[in-house]
Amino acid sequence: MSLVVMKFGGTSVEDATAIARTAGIVAGRVAQGKKPVVVVSAMSKVTDQLLACAAAASRGDRTGALAISQRLRCRYRDTAAALLKDHKRLAALQTSIEHEFDALDEVLRGLAVILELTPRISDLIVSYGERLSSYMIAQAFDEMGMHGVHVDAREVIITDSQYQKAIPLDDLIEERCALHIKPHLDAGSVPVMGGFIGSNEAGITTTLGRGGSDFTGALIGGALHAEAIEIWTDVNGIMTTDPRICPDALRVRVVSFEEAAELAYFGAKVLHPATILPAVRRNIPVLVLNSRNPTNEGTRIISLAPHCKSPFKCIAVKKKLTIIDVVASRMLMTHGYLKAIFDIFDKHQCPVDMVSTSEVSVSLTVDSNDKLPAIAADLGKLADVKYEGQKALVCMVGEDIRGQMGISAQVFTAIKHINVRMISQGASEINMSFMIEESDVEEAVKSLHAHFFRDPDPEIFDVEARAATV
Ligand code: ADP
Ligand code: ASP
Ligand code: MG
Repeated sequence: MSLVVMKFGGTSVEDATAIARTAGIVAGRVAQGKKPVVVVSAMSKVTDQLLACAAAASRGDRTGALAISQRLRCRYRDTAAALLKDHKRLAALQTSIEHEFDALDEVLRGLAVILELTPRISDLIVSYGERLSSYMIAQAFDEMGMHGVHVDAREVIITDSQYQKAIPLDDLIEERCALHIKPHLDAGSVPVMGGFIGSNEAGITTTLGRGGSDFTGALIGGALHAEAIEIWTDVNGIMTTDPRICPDALRVRVVSFEEAAELAYFGAKVLHPATILPAVRRNIPVLVLNSRNPTNEGTRIISLAPHCKSPFKCIAVKKKLTIIDVVASRMLMTHGYLKAIFDIFDKHQCPVDMVSTSEVSVSLTVDSNDKLPAIAADLGKLADVKYEGQKALVCMVGEDIRGQMGISAQVFTAIKHINVRMISQGASEINMSFMIEESDVEEAVKSLHAHFFRDPDPEIFDVEARAATV
């Protein structure tokens, strides 16, 4: 059975027109004899708005929270009305939309009394985005003659109880896929489920972290041994850098799993970092495709990418980082110093991105977060501590930098007018990363892009697209 998982992001389901386009893409796969399992995000911006609702309610702003929820309710009502023609089906869908929003409003009213937004309640509130979009899209597919059936992702994506960044439990997910998805495929239906959300073994709603629908797609693909996992988004694939920074970014035709993981981890928003794991485990190719331009061949992520003449495939940027400098002259020549420092980060459950050390000082970077004052206070018991926010990490990725001479010189010459705060190369042989001020990001990326992608390898990059725009 040629099973393919198709994940559509927020912009691919943002309104009735986008959903109809998405349906056309899925129908195209069915016509090719494939069996799709469809994973959808919430409609674009809905997750942010649900989080804003939750924040308002937890501040006691009941009216503000209910007003946002009311606007969302209207958006879903209008989309449903534009999407479905069959009156009976539409009436049933409208009834469930009203029920879901009534339930959400109940939670918001309760929260406005309790005034405490726990991660568990946050996950419950935010889950409405994917619950509603997936239900509505399943109805639309069914009306369009594709036998769409809704599958509640919380019955399938079983996770631990770390709300807001739950860890999936692979064996249980595999069992649940066999139980809740496979029979629909055997019956010739198209299962449609929400991404991002799941539940723990007790049935309490959890989420996989922001951008987590990609991860859901990969988990389902892995559990069902899909022949491919397709990530449908609003750009032509993985580009040489974020096209919002460099409009002349080029599509990368093919990258390795290792390169894609590195890119995603270091800030290329196009893919959730964990997406690659289930695919690697089963060696399932992942394709990143554009739902607004479905005939474009996108980016193929495979285990071994072909050799590329250019050293780098892509430049990723991660903003909102803080550099922490720890200087401990009194610990000179003592051992256990780094351990003591990392124990503090561990205690505060704060992941560290980059580290650079000398005999007495250590610089670390972390996502800017509200635990920093407490972390600095703990570090202050061991050493002198300074921390500074509004930093950004620029990460250049490419398998072909392994062992190449003179690459660092080229990188730092291209940005010689920019102040570099920290450098890291070597931990992973396929990336070169450095920290700069957030305000220098655009200039740095443009300069690096102009230098390294001036004469791109046509086997790896879509150079025709650039030619077409010049
Ligand atoms: P979706 O809602 O489909 O999940 P996202 O907004 O999460 O889409 O990711 C797609 C966006 O990622 C693009 O619109 C683009 O601006 C951004 N992006 C950042 N870096 C890259 C990159 N290297 N290649 C492609 N897109 C990138
Ligand atoms: N809707 C969720 C988010 O915006 C998950 C996703 O779209 O991947 O983070
Ligand atoms: Mg995304």
